[in-house]
Amino acid sequence: PSCATPVEDGMVVTTHSEALESSRRGTLRMLARRLPKQAAKDASHRPLLAELRAYGLLDELGGSGDPALLDAAHPYIRVDMSRCIDCYRCQRICNEVQGQFSWVLRGRGRQTQLVPDSGTSLLASSCVSCGACVDTCPTGALEDQSVLQAGTPTELTRTTCPYCGVGCEMLVGTRAGRIVQIRPALDAPVNHGHLCVKGRYAFGYVHAPDRLNEPLLRDGNGELREVSWEQALSFTAQRLQALRGAHGADALAVLGSARGTNEEAYLAQKFARLLLGTNNVDCCARVCHAPSAAAIGGMLGTGAATNSFDDIERARTILVCGANATENHPIVGARIRQAVLAGAELVVIDPRRIELTQLGGLHLQLRPGSNVALLNAMAHVIMDEQLVDEEFAAARVDGVAALRDFLSGFPPERAAAECGVPAELIRKAARLYATRKPAMCLHGLGMTEHVQGTEAVMCLVNLALLTGNLGKPGSGVNPLRGQNNVQGAAQMGCEPAHLCGYATLEKGRELFEAVWQAPLPKTAGLDLMQMMDAAQAGRLKALYAIGYDVLLTNPNTSVTREALAKLELLVVQDLFLNETAREFAQVVLPAAASYEKDGTFMNAERRVQRVRRALAPPGNARADWEIVSALASQMGQSQGFVFQNAEEIWEEVRRVWPAGAGMSYARLDRAGLQWPCPSEDHPGTPTLHTEAFPLGPRAAVRCIEYRPSSEVCDESYPLLLVTGRKLHHFNAGTMTGRTRNHELRLPDVLDLCTQDAVRFGLTAGDRVILRSRYGSARLPVRIDESVRPGEVFTTFHTAQVFLNQVTSPHRDSVTRTPEYKLTAVSLERESESRPQVSPPE
Ligand code: SF4
Repeated sequence: PSCATPVEDGMVVTTHSEALESSRRGTLRMLARRLPKQAAKDASHRPLLAELRAYGLLDELGGSGDPALLDAAHPYIRVDMSRCIDCYRCQRICNEVQGQFSWVLRGRGRQTQLVPDSGTSLLASSCVSCGACVDTCPTGALEDQSVLQAGTPTELTRTTCPYCGVGCEMLVGTRAGRIVQIRPALDAPVNHGHLCVKGRYAFGYVHAPDRLNEPLLRDGNGELREVSWEQALSFTAQRLQALRGAHGADALAVLGSARGTNEEAYLAQKFARLLLGTNNVDCCARVCHAPSAAAIGGMLGTGAATNSFDDIERARTILVCGANATENHPIVGARIRQAVLAGAELVVIDPRRIELTQLGGLHLQLRPGSNVALLNAMAHVIMDEQLVDEEFAAARVDGVAALRDFLSGFPPERAAAECGVPAELIRKAARLYATRKPAMCLHGLGMTEHVQGTEAVMCLVNLALLTGNLGKPGSGVNPLRGQNNVQGAAQMGCEPAHLCGYATLEKGRELFEAVWQAPLPKTAGLDLMQMMDAAQAGRLKALYAIGYDVLLTNPNTSVTREALAKLELLVVQDLFLNETAREFAQVVLPAAASYEKDGTFMNAERRVQRVRRALAPPGNARADWEIVSALASQMGQSQGFVFQNAEEIWEEVRRVWPAGAGMSYARLDRAGLQWPCPSEDHPGTPTLHTEAFPLGPRAAVRCIEYRPSSEVCDESYPLLLVTGRKLHHFNAGTMTGRTRNHELRLPDVLDLCTQDAVRFGLTAGDRVILRSRYGSARLPVRIDESVRPGEVFTTFHTAQVFLNQVTSPHRDSVTRTPEYKLTAVSLERESESRPQVSPPE
């Protein structure tokens, strides 16, 4: 069929001929005969009716209109199989792109019918709501509910997804100032015309009734009241200046946002350094992949992914460590799934039986927190069985002999006792990674959010260096970044010890002082966790938090709450009145969403891509950069903070960041570029370290002792809690919580296996009190055999559950990233949720 035939050079396309018209009329007749006569009055059939009219087929309407063929239960997708022409494009795209296999054939011969695999509704099926089937359906049998309700878009704006660090490009369809549909950009290098449920459908938050439209100021009665921008900014400026005067610049701090653009993160750190005079600036990379940046940067010289997502299809072995890619980075997950179906080997290191483990391959189901033990044992096997890439090691790696000695006492049998993975499975995984090359490693927060987070990633770098899986397509060490611009926020200098481009304070000083024409503060600042410590100790007096809900997101809420309560000034800038603002902010500044402003994001593979304004922000909300700029002016510092648009800020970034100097907006227009891209004629860098490392020609492997967490189970806290995210929801739930995604999957349920459910006398749906040594939370239970006995899993998406009341204060020993992935807990059923027992008859 023409709709499945790629266009080629020289092809002659005939759109109208006698044979074509006859065939088209035949297809339309089939469609018409499936529809009831009333369909002529149904606005949702308008495009089809126009076609039928054009071909004189309106009289053919008159099918049974079987209501069983209409399924409107799904919040985003309307299914009307009376319009299906059995082209099976939905089934093929579901199988061949998403890899979900949700559309199946029922019946035989002329009774054959496409149905969701539930056999009933799409909502009840295994569908992950990526919308690919809707995009490909040529007849309207599958349609977006939003378009049926609000009309087709009148304008399309190309931009980048505001959710995860995969960085999918999309077309935002607007009509009368509202988003009515989002579809994938077909030529996007990351997502190749595909989106996940969050990017495709979870845009409703933009129009949520509780968006902040005006600035708020807390009055004498403790109430937040609407005020003008002038009042909010002048109050903030005066308080910041007064607190700086009284306590010094280092009593102030700024949190830049990983949700905002690169331009905004750059301006936030410039505001902290240049205007407040402190290096107390950080972002939420601290609570996720700071260990990856420290480990990869420290060992290889660049603290970012070494390779590109396109290498997923080039790798012969894919090692997925502590990353539930199909749920948290769904487009990467779909690409991994297709690569494995096409023959790549898969090794999954994860305490849970995540979806990827269903593809076969090896699953190393380790105890939470034992990553270093397991990875050291894999390195031992590689050395013991002479699987080291000797040529690569001789040319580019130092420290191999010392590591060999160090690991000689760490055979898989010893690791097995520590991590619970059978020694033979560790051997198999090590052999695959070392021999079926290129082997690509993708890792997530299951690696980093532990007391040995940085060291675990260093162990991954060890494996890559030993086996020569670096500097080549299809290989490398690649952190899957969680938020849309978390790579960018840190890269732009929202980092207490680094300037834009990860330049150290010493190395970058001269250039930055020359461009900014002002001296920089000398000493390294406080990171996010140290800011909390300093606030609690009374040393930090003011915090300006942009796009980050500190109270809901930081671990060990009771301590965070104490710290925030001691601040003398808390300014929160966000789309909504988040939990931090609600309880503690003196000033709340309304910010624009990413669909409402211009700029760039940087994804997990170092790709800088454009963000474009598709609609105006609500009320008086402003882009983050505009707010920072206005606040700087209010504080009497216009120089260096007045910009006409985001591009002007980016031009300054290019002057201070040599690796990004070649990336003009014009060059980023479509598909973006991967840094390093030092000049206008540089094509960007998909693979790092091909010839040498930024540190020099050689990198060194490191000897890393395994140190288990001090968070352990005992009689009072017999279970280990692992936390993470789920496909349909995102981080603090600020955005997805205001969409219909909650109709697809409830946020925050506690997953435990049948064995533990029996042990604690629980059934699905019971509500429990989850207690740790630090606090408690209440949530419903779900029985899920992907979790092992002795372990439970949940998410942290809602303030109703407030899961971080439970998580521990333990931190990574290098970067102080919290150990979200491991807390000893107990369970108790909430008394009111006990099932009613009927009296005996
Ligand atoms: Fe957005 Fe990530 Fe989904 Fe892509 S995979 S659509 S970037 S949430």
